[in-house]
Amino acid sequence: MDAREIKAAVAHQRALSEAAVDRDAPFLNLRDPARSLGPDGRPAVSRRASKWLDVPDDKWNDWRWQLSNRVNDLEEVAEILELTDDEREGLGAPDKFRVDITPYFISLIDPRDPNDPIRRQVIPTGREAQAFTGMMEDSLAEDRHSPVPGLVHRYPDRVLMLVTTQCASYCRYCTRSRIVGDPTQNFNRREHEAQLDYLRRTPQVRDVLISGGDGLTLAPKLLETIIRGIREIPHIEIIRIGSRVPVFMPQRVDDELCEMLQRYHPVWINLHFNHPDEITPEVSRAVDKLARAGIPIGNQSVLLAGVNDCVHIQRALVHKLVANRIRPYYLYQCDLVEGSGHFRTPVGKGLEIMEGLRGHTSGYAVPTYVIDAPGGGGKIPVMPNYLISYSDHKVVLRNYEGYITTYEEPETYERHDERACRYCRDERPEPGQSGVLGLLEGERMWIEPRDFNDVHTRGNTERHRLQDPAKWVPFGVGAIEGKAGAPLPVLEGRSNGTTQTEPKTDYGPGEEPRPRDGEPTASAHGELL
Ligand SMILES: *Cc1c(COP(=O)(O)O)cnc(C)c1O
Ligand code: SF4
Repeated sequence: MDAREIKAAVAHQRALSEAAVDRDAPFLNLRDPARSLGPDGRPAVSRRASKWLDVPDDKWNDWRWQLSNRVNDLEEVAEILELTDDEREGLGAPDKFRVDITPYFISLIDPRDPNDPIRRQVIPTGREAQAFTGMMEDSLAEDRHSPVPGLVHRYPDRVLMLVTTQCASYCRYCTRSRIVGDPTQNFNRREHEAQLDYLRRTPQVRDVLISGGDGLTLAPKLLETIIRGIREIPHIEIIRIGSRVPVFMPQRVDDELCEMLQRYHPVWINLHFNHPDEITPEVSRAVDKLARAGIPIGNQSVLLAGVNDCVHIQRALVHKLVANRIRPYYLYQCDLVEGSGHFRTPVGKGLEIMEGLRGHTSGYAVPTYVIDAPGGGGKIPVMPNYLISYSDHKVVLRNYEGYITTYEEPETYERHDERACRYCRDERPEPGQSGVLGLLEGERMWIEPRDFNDVHTRGNTERHRLQDPAKWVPFGVGAIEGKAGAPLPVLEGRSNGTTQTEPKTDYGPGEEPRPRDGEPTASAHGELL
């Protein structure tokens, strides 16, 4: 907790006790992030860079002001952040991918921390220009799957509809950097009409995903024309919007937008947060508005070295997402696209993160880890059935159609620095479980109960076993749960006199006793199951 958070907590306490005095006052739910209060007892607000301290609130909170006051050149950025040489090189590069950052978003960056996770997503570096093995311009082969410009029809029943090339700010790792950002290459009304026309003629499409660029940057009237055009097509069941606007510019989520969207239900939204720092009080209020408009909200993250390649950051992120009623949807492996070389992680990193989420936290908080197939086979979950082989430099996968693709692993990867990471330092101990960090260090191949190997205490393993003997019955290969209808057998435990049970002598198919101390172990895994 820093001083700001402590002050905010004190303000919360004060508000709570004031509310408690007046029994008739409506219940004050201070767990709701959309109601969070600042140190002054008013709705919490994020930091503003000193450059904009004098801007009146009504301007600052106006999304059009945010869009027209974006920062994009070296001098302007240098006024706000202390730039490194690498960043100066990146910002000075003549043919770089577009830079443009809303005042709101750049204000969230710690001006003195070159490793700030928000900074790394929007401020270019010289490293961006480095090529790498497997790099492609259109790594998902979207252009090859476009029957009309901007419409990608890759899956049988759904399409991706790119309605603009413009975004509120530009992410350095953008998959579509080949088309995004260029104002001279935007889609126009004629192209939107051609896209709609394709949809009218294609009855197997039941799901349209509006993306870009970012559809929420369009003029409200134009956005509504497109959405209405889609809604008028009888066979389209759901409309989805993939947007990062509420992250870069939560001010855009105003009442007018929410009222418009809810006229065209069912509408779903997928947002794009990569780090917990991006979920500010302003974002919480914007997301609350969308949720009140009846829009289910998901999140897609990209796994990025130096931003979120850490189990603890990812866990903090998904917890903050679900606390804001946002369902983590996908965690993407970084695509093989130009400019993203230094963001790439090995696939093992993603698997490690999934290992640290599944079971450790609410199922709602666990996204699906996917690789978007290089060459264009769609998103492939990194899991058995789809993962064909995994060697030290490439991952072979198949998509839902049986199409086989290869993902080339990065040749260099700068490992996450646990000592410098506040999320690693603040790791909350998980009762009874350890080993996630062991996986990270490559010491172990599995997660084990805490103190498992401590011969002196037999620590938690034994305590766990005695608390719930059924949990620790070792099953052999092919075991089933005892005999039909019969309770699970309770096997002998090394008791300290509390829950002694008689050793069992007859076993059902597949059941086997736990070896006593000193006896050879037939199946070491029996201990863990
Ligand atoms: C991601 C994507 C979709 C949507 O895929 P889901 O797995 O249904 O979310 C559809 N079309 C294209 C081209 C996509 O890239
Ligand atoms: S918001 Fe999406 S489309 Fe726009 S730059 Fe970022 S990743 Fe690319």
